[in-house]
Amino acid sequence: MKKYRLLVTTIIAMGIILIGTSNPITNLYKSTNLISKGITRKDDKEKIKEEKPLICIDPGHQERGDSNPEAVAPGSSQTKARVSSGATGISTKKPEYILNLEASTVLKHILEGKGYRVIMTRETHNVNISNAERARLANEKNSDMVVRIHADSLDNSSKTGASILIPAKENKYTTSIYEASNQCAQVVKNQMTNAGIKVNGIFERGDLTGFNWSTVPVVLVEMGFLSNYNEDQMMSNPEYQRKLMQSVADGVEEYLRQKN
Ligand SMILES: [Zn+2]
Repeated sequence: MKKYRLLVTTIIAMGIILIGTSNPITNLYKSTNLISKGITRKDDKEKIKEEKPLICIDPGHQERGDSNPEAVAPGSSQTKARVSSGATGISTKKPEYILNLEASTVLKHILEGKGYRVIMTRETHNVNISNAERARLANEKNSDMVVRIHADSLDNSSKTGASILIPAKENKYTTSIYEASNQCAQVVKNQMTNAGIKVNGIFERGDLTGFNWSTVPVVLVEMGFLSNYNEDQMMSNPEYQRKLMQSVADGVEEYLRQKN
């Protein structure tokens, strides 16, 4: 009988201890916390997956060039000026660095309107960012694509039309980005041509510092010739700028869609 009572007491005591330790509120909190943690993790994954590509726009040149040398490629002993101030419009007298930023800003808004994330290497004129530094910025930010905006100039004022420059195929510094850059250039060229813009072609360049330092596929759009009276005026026309940049943005969008 005594043994039986001891057993009952022990069972009751154990029961009390068990109930005491299993605080229902704490347990409920623990489980909801786990559930919410699980949901948060899933959300983060979805967010990363759904995150739109990042495009880096580089408005060529700046207010004052910097003739100090920098290596044309990683580890190269060959050097070039860090950055130049660019050409000037024969009719508008507008410096290229101003035109490039105007058009780049239009491009930025169109790409953002398509839902892409966009970074710019510069948003003002009074900066000093070398071509290698611009490329490295795009690399470091994990950009998916770089679009460099420039305008051409020649001694021959009759020459007109846009050109698209890409890294050269036979260039050890850009082997990994050649194919993608070329693919993007092809679709950008088609979009520009479809929009009625004269495109002279796609040209491979192995001598551009801004290409050689890039680990991200890159195209450089020479919008037209500042040395041609009409084209200089056209490039400063907001309507033409919008048409031009719309076609570049459509091309980039098509390329990124093909890629994924
Ligand atoms: Zn330029």
